[in-house]
Amino acid sequence: MGVRAEIATHLRDEVGAIHKEAPESVALVYPSPYRVAMSSLGYQTIYRTINAIDGMAAHRAFLPDDVEAWRHSRRPLVTYESMRPVSDYPVLAFSIAYEPEVEGLIQTLELSGIPPLASDRTRRHPIVFAGGPLTFSNPLPLAPFVDAIVMGEADQSIYTVLRTIFDSDSKDSALRTLSTHPHVLVPELEGDILPPIDKADSTRLPAFSQIMTPHTELRNMFLIEPERGCHRGCTYCVMRRSTNDGMRIVKKERILSLVPDDAKRVGLVGAATTDHPQITEIVNALADSGREVGLSSLRADRLNDDLVAALRRGGHRILTTASDGSSQRMRDAIQRHTSEEQLRQAALLARRHGMKRLKLYLMVGLPGETDEDIDEMVELGKELSSLIPLSLGVAPFVAKRNTPLDGEPFAGISLVDARLRRLRRGVRGRVDVRATSARWAWIEYVLAQGARAEGLAVLEAVKAGGRFSDWKRAFDALPPSRPRRSLVRPGNRLSRAIAF
Ligand code: SF4
Repeated sequence: MGVRAEIATHLRDEVGAIHKEAPESVALVYPSPYRVAMSSLGYQTIYRTINAIDGMAAHRAFLPDDVEAWRHSRRPLVTYESMRPVSDYPVLAFSIAYEPEVEGLIQTLELSGIPPLASDRTRRHPIVFAGGPLTFSNPLPLAPFVDAIVMGEADQSIYTVLRTIFDSDSKDSALRTLSTHPHVLVPELEGDILPPIDKADSTRLPAFSQIMTPHTELRNMFLIEPERGCHRGCTYCVMRRSTNDGMRIVKKERILSLVPDDAKRVGLVGAATTDHPQITEIVNALADSGREVGLSSLRADRLNDDLVAALRRGGHRILTTASDGSSQRMRDAIQRHTSEEQLRQAALLARRHGMKRLKLYLMVGLPGETDEDIDEMVELGKELSSLIPLSLGVAPFVAKRNTPLDGEPFAGISLVDARLRRLRRGVRGRVDVRATSARWAWIEYVLAQGARAEGLAVLEAVKAGGRFSDWKRAFDALPPSRPRRSLVRPGNRLSRAIAF
């Protein structure tokens, strides 16, 4: 499909897109393809928020599915709502979910005809800023490419940031004013010390979808957050209780009142949705109205007959929860308070309520992990698979900033691969094992622990072709063991939640 035809198909099949023209317009850019972007609740919420501002419009742009095809078309990247080149907009707002999307940011700028390095841009180029979930841990690899970074929940600050930009008489003056904002970093003026993340007022909650489309991972699903944040304390997690004061709950009545009549599928999204005190009632109410219900982040210790029955009525065929550590010793070490017995109960509940499969997420390569920990998961996996078909979704552990495990080393590509082989061999023929690549997890790790230099290395890797060998060469050329510095201004809260 041609690049223009792809956009036309997406637009034709959407419900809820806002086609607004206004004197002040923003290109809202997602540096991953459309199908990923439109599953992002934060991105959709910011889209609606900007369009609700008098005299302002947000038009979407995405990293094309086929970057090379777009490059060969020699057309500049355009926005969906107006088909205008992204470079025509005075402001580009990027939403960055996780570290490897730095590559997508560079590619979208290049496809737009905008120099990726902020230092190569003139005062006539658009102001480029970024926000999103990555700002809750470490957005510093973005610093060479953006004029500003908006930290944390942007539900409110997006208004102040955009008003500042449009009310300023020059790019310089806009950036000077933005640098005084308590939750904005202007790298050119302030260096690399991050300000604290913002916390949106509870009256701004919940975030919810604006657009439904069949062309996403969560097909035609209306997304809404019954809660924001988490009150637990897993030591690897940036969304733990120290983030913006833990969990904020939205009442059932408010959630149900926001679900549109024509939404046949509803996704309840949040860090700890099963910790919502009314979650079973919410799922039942949605299922009673004939809707399919999806639920993110099911905690094994919150599963019971009522909730699993409600999920089954809401169309769940697979019960998904997490072990995270491969053994009880590992789960205890990372303060993941899930017991083997709770995982066994999850399998029994799934079977009792007619689910087809249990899916468990876990990490390998945690600090202190040994082969014996993997063997414990092999035994548990075999036992659970005798109760119900079992899948394991395995990710290598990547230490993140703003977590207690920040600074822990990456276990190593060969060790992670060896542990994965051991796990697969142990459960062969009994359990389906899907794993994230150890190589790309290492890239994520370098960026998660990195700063400006690592961001510049991504540019080198992209220029060289973007293969793993290009990334490795670029990262290997970085000076070894540079001293770690404090990356946050005093008073920064450890945090993360919905951003854009
Ligand atoms: S891993 Fe989940 S349960 Fe643990 S702190 Fe993070 S969001 Fe909460």
